[in-house]
Amino acid sequence: MAVIPGDGVGPEVISASLPVLRAAARRAGSRLEAVELDWGGDRYLRTGRAMPPDAVDVLRGFPAVLFGAVGRPDVPDHELIWGLIIGVRQALDLAVNVRPVQSWAGVTTVLREPDGIDLVIVRENTEGEYAGIGGRAHAATPHELGIEVAVHSRPAILRAARYAFDLARSRRGRLSLVTKSNALRHGYTLWDSVVAEVAAEHPDVECENVLVDAMAVRLVQRPRELDVLLCGNLFGDILSDLAAVLAGGMGMAPSANLLPGGDVPALFEPVHGSAPDIAGRGVANPVACMLSGAMLLDHVGLPAAGRIVRDAVATALRDPSLHTPDLGGSASTKELAAEILAAVETTTAP
Ligand code: NAD
Ligand code: MN
Repeated sequence: MAVIPGDGVGPEVISASLPVLRAAARRAGSRLEAVELDWGGDRYLRTGRAMPPDAVDVLRGFPAVLFGAVGRPDVPDHELIWGLIIGVRQALDLAVNVRPVQSWAGVTTVLREPDGIDLVIVRENTEGEYAGIGGRAHAATPHELGIEVAVHSRPAILRAARYAFDLARSRRGRLSLVTKSNALRHGYTLWDSVVAEVAAEHPDVECENVLVDAMAVRLVQRPRELDVLLCGNLFGDILSDLAAVLAGGMGMAPSANLLPGGDVPALFEPVHGSAPDIAGRGVANPVACMLSGAMLLDHVGLPAAGRIVRDAVATALRDPSLHTPDLGGSASTKELAAEILAAVETTTAP
């Protein structure tokens, strides 16, 4: 695999995760090769570009990519977000973003009953408000305009929907389509009709349509009944951060970017950014990155290794003295990572 540690806490959570992922692969009888790439903010400051011109071809040579985070206070966000992570997602056409959210025994959250949550947000990853179409007009007048055109196409909806229905079929068989088709009459009514067609191909999956504002309420009040949420790009971005809080926060939220059935590497990354407010202090929670690595192991054909990582994370999190500050504890990244590594190494091979 290729590894892009990036900026801020990115390298901290990546270096905590790699030994765990390697050990889990070894326990499952395999070897994980990791090639580190120095792309991100430092490189941007040195060369004016966050990644080399042939970056996407470099990535194509790998089955999967593990990405930390980018973003630094002294570089404009769009240079690194568009110049690296969104650029890579679009160039590889990583159509679907998958963000699982679950409760962890021992981790307290904002919820009164923090247990029993097990849901996955499937986010269309290339279009909507992120299509990059629009512009600014009437600068320096009182009527200055910023226009962002939301693009929703049948093929993009179809591939996200088919992935989400297949996933629901392999889980509890429930899918919630999240739109705002009562008020946004063009794009989201297309979602409603395309997803209805896909639902007809999957009679074994129970499908409901929920407006995004109502879903925000459901996620907080009754998250246990949710299984797979299918969302456009913008709503998926917002709801998955909300849902991450239900699992204990941004330090707990993994994700995958993939092209179902496509011959391109999938990219796995914690949902969080470079967290400049805590970077350099050795207290970042490495779990989101490790769980992203577990998804990578599943994806490259080592599901036993993925399970070993998740079990080891669960074992360590049951002990609050191992929690990092974001979880209310006082452990360091290294202390938590060392216990997870120890749990991986003592697990009985499956
Ligand atoms: P952020 O996710 O970096 O931080 C939000 C909050 O969550 C902060 O309080 C931070 O301390 C906390 N947090 C995040 N990760 C954590 C971890 N592993 N352990 C403990 N606490 C953690 O979001 P932000 O502050 O909005 O953005 C900071 C920078 O990151 C910006 O430059 C932004 O553009 C960038 N960013 C990058 C990505 C990406 O690389 N995919 C995603 C989001 C934001
Ligand atoms: Mn986000």
